[in-house]
Amino acid sequence: MIPKVGISEGKEPLFYNESHHAWREEVRKFVSKEIAPFVEEWEEAGEFPRELYKKAADVGLMGMGYDEKYGGTTEGIDIFHGIVTAEEFAHGCGGVSASLLSHNIAIPLIQSLGTEEQKEKFIPPVVRGEKIAALAMTEPSGGSDVASLKTKALRKGDHFIVNGSKMFITSGMRADTYVVGVRTGGEGATGISVLVIEKDTPGFTQSPLKKMGWLSSDTAVLYFDNCKVPVENLIGGENSGWIGVMSNFSQERLGMAAGMNAYSQICIDEAVAWAKERKTFGKPLIDNQVIKHKLVDMNRAVKTSRAWTELLSWRVMNGESPIADLAMLKVHASKAMELCAREAMQILGGAGYLRANSGPGKVERIYREVRVNAIGGGSEEIMYDLAARQLGYRS
Ligand SMILES: Cc1cc2nc3c(=O)[nH]c(=O)nc-3n(C[C@H](O)[C@H](O)[C@H](O)COP(=O)(O)OP(=O)(O)OC[C@H]3O[C@@H](n4cnc5c(N)ncnc54)[C@H](O)[C@@H]3O)c2cc1C
Repeated sequence: MIPKVGISEGKEPLFYNESHHAWREEVRKFVSKEIAPFVEEWEEAGEFPRELYKKAADVGLMGMGYDEKYGGTTEGIDIFHGIVTAEEFAHGCGGVSASLLSHNIAIPLIQSLGTEEQKEKFIPPVVRGEKIAALAMTEPSGGSDVASLKTKALRKGDHFIVNGSKMFITSGMRADTYVVGVRTGGEGATGISVLVIEKDTPGFTQSPLKKMGWLSSDTAVLYFDNCKVPVENLIGGENSGWIGVMSNFSQERLGMAAGMNAYSQICIDEAVAWAKERKTFGKPLIDNQVIKHKLVDMNRAVKTSRAWTELLSWRVMNGESPIADLAMLKVHASKAMELCAREAMQILGGAGYLRANSGPGKVERIYREVRVNAIGGGSEEIMYDLAARQLGYRS
């Protein structure tokens, strides 16, 4: 039976149990103590302290969903714990979430496709917060058409010789363990393999990128110049990395949608608080119909997005693979976030334009973080194409 949806704010939401509530409390405590007070400082600095990984590991954040034998926690954990994490991290900032949790787009590939030895070697140090993991698929020649990636890995005896480059990689400068999509075979999806490339591998260098938003996140270009990678670092079979890469994207999109819903809600909350406080023409802003309508419109967008996120999480948790819906949800959530950030900025007027991590300042940062959500993890256009293909829309 499909439960009622869209009741995440109700007294007893059907999708969430005591364990989710307890986890929400835990993550909220962590974010409000270890991240939120420092967001402005870290965004200005363009980075956050490396010790944060260890602190996050100590409260179980890094190992959530990874096998116990590699130091993680799976017992009693389901997809809604991930949704809760993404929502609560929105009360920190997008940049910290993206880098601190970059292992969540990289390590699942090792967990699902790797050998026992590979899992034992690569997963525990990341789960303990000692090493940082990154996923490197996108290339300077384009990220939408992943199946056309060009970074070449040529097998020579016990090694692959890797040549090429990767673009926009989160945790690109300071990661230790890079999960990299490479071409070992012919053209297209069937020629793709996945290699783990470690930081100190000769021939591997990185250079940082400056961005519009996610300022505290580490984003880099990676260069592979005759980089010699041991054959033991091949994850899954040769030329069979594609399925793993694709299934990874579905989980990423659900988590992104949950985060976007929470950022949208922050915009609503900030806008409501401001509109009640701010007086123009002798009355509070919120008493103008046009302002009320904006707020209701924002609510409409985010409530539908949250309800759909919960429904799809529930379906994925129950073994379904609703690819078209996940693609459409990602677009829906980024459009909701775009609307909420825009309207909140408008309601805040000039105050919304100022940088600060308290009060209206959050909206300015979220406004700058909208586009990366609409582009990263599969852009809106590519999500629509994917949905259309899955829905069989062709002549
Ligand atoms: C801050 C940041 C962090 C990122 N982190 C990572 C990471 O950790 N790992 C990683 O691998 N990647 C990462 N990415 C890359 C991200 O996934 C890509 O930017 C995204 O997939 C789009 O690729 P592209 O930027 O090369 O755009 P392109 O593929 O060049 O596309 C450009 C534009 O054209 C549109 N377009 C492309 N093809 C079509 C078409 N057929 N029809 C209509 N429109 C089309 C796209 O939607 C897009 O809007 C990150 C990106 C950013 C900005």
